[in-house]
Order: sequence, then structure tokens, then C-alpha cells
Amino acid sequence: MTQERFSTLEECCEFATQFCLLTPKKKLEQKDNMVAMHIALARHIDELINRVCTRHDLECQWEWNYGLCWRGSAGRCNSHLCLISLFPNIVFDGANYIRDVILHELAHLTNPHHRRRFWKTNIAYLQEEGLLPEGEVTKEEEVVEDRWGGELKYHSLYLNGKLIVDRWEMGSSMVGRITDHNPLLAGNCKVSSRSLERGARAMKAIIREARDNKQLNIKFVI
Ligand SMILES: [Zn+2]
Repeated sequence: MTQERFSTLEECCEFATQFCLLTPKKKLEQKDNMVAMHIALARHIDELINRVCTRHDLECQWEWNYGLCWRGSAGRCNSHLCLISLFPNIVFDGANYIRDVILHELAHLTNPHHRRRFWKTNIAYLQEEGLLPEGEVTKEEEVVEDRWGGELKYHSLYLNGKLIVDRWEMGSSMVGRITDHNPLLAGNCKVSSRSLERGARAMKAIIREARDNKQLNIKFVI
């Protein structure tokens, strides 16, 4: 079987999920497919990143990064280096999840924070990719008293009148699972620990092989 099998991100994710369920012996038999899947996956990711970067006149590189794969993170953006790090385990959470994470990290290239401007950029990217409906983004401000009697200002964002980023999600402590309803959550969401365990066990050596094959034009940090 060849790379053509993996003509979409969905096919890559589907294969990765099935691969994890195989016995060690069967995994070994499917090793070439796993390498082919990673090469195809990298191409799809390149394509998405290049598309957004070209459209917005941005420059960036990306890498698969095991070295920084702290528990629960999906991606990271270093806006100084214009470098997006993706943690390979995201493949187990589906094609939409990968897109959401990438668009979240791309929005960080020009907005190294989670303030309103960041969310507006993130929403625009998701709309351009057809992952959120077109429409008007509006904001609401709320001033609440903190426990010391000071003032805290919160912002919420609405898309076509529907709450899309609530005040809790504006903070950097955002956690939770990505849902189809809110792709904005992706970058800060926790990858399920089951996915992480599966990923770590099944993929590390195989990805290393894909890298050594020199077929991938991306940086690997292991
Ligand atoms: Zn973020």
C-alpha cells in the first residue's frame, strides 16, 4: 500500500486510530503504512499552514515535537522564532482537531496572548477554512469585583449573536475537550491521556523512521 491511500487528513487520523488497536506483531506488519501516513500527514499540515500564511502574508515553520510534549498539550507557538510545535499525538483526536490546533497556533504568530485580538484572528482563520460560519463578531464587556474589592474586566465574543468565547475562555487557564461547536478551544485543550499513552507507545520509533527516511521536509525534535 502506498501514500495515495492517505489523500485526506481524515484518512490519516483513521489509520492512526486503527493502528493503535493492533497487536504488536500486526503493528510491525503495518509499519510502512504508518510511515507513509506520517509523510502524508505532514504534507496535509504543510498545505494548511502554507495556505493561511500566504493569505495573511505570514511566515512560519513547524515541527513535530516530542521533546516538549508535556502532558495534555496539543501545540505551541513561539512567535519570536515564528515556529509552531505540534505534538504528534493530536492525530488521535481527529482531522478537525488537527486543523483547529494549527489555526489556533497560527493566530498566535501575530498575537502571543489570549486577548480579544487573538480570538478575532482565530475566528477569522476558522471562517476562512470553513470551520466556523461567516458572520459578525461582536463583544461584550463585563466588570466584576474580585475578592479583594478590585475591578476585573471580562470580555465575551459573539458570532452572529451566539456566544463563542466566554469570559472564562479568555484566560490562559482554559481547559476542556474540543467540541464540534467550539473549535476555538483547540489550542488549549487537553489531549486525552488515553490518546497520549497510545501515541507515545505506538508512534515514537516509527516517526523516527519516517524522519530518517528524509522524506519529510520538517524538523523533528525527539
Ligand atoms: Zn493559545
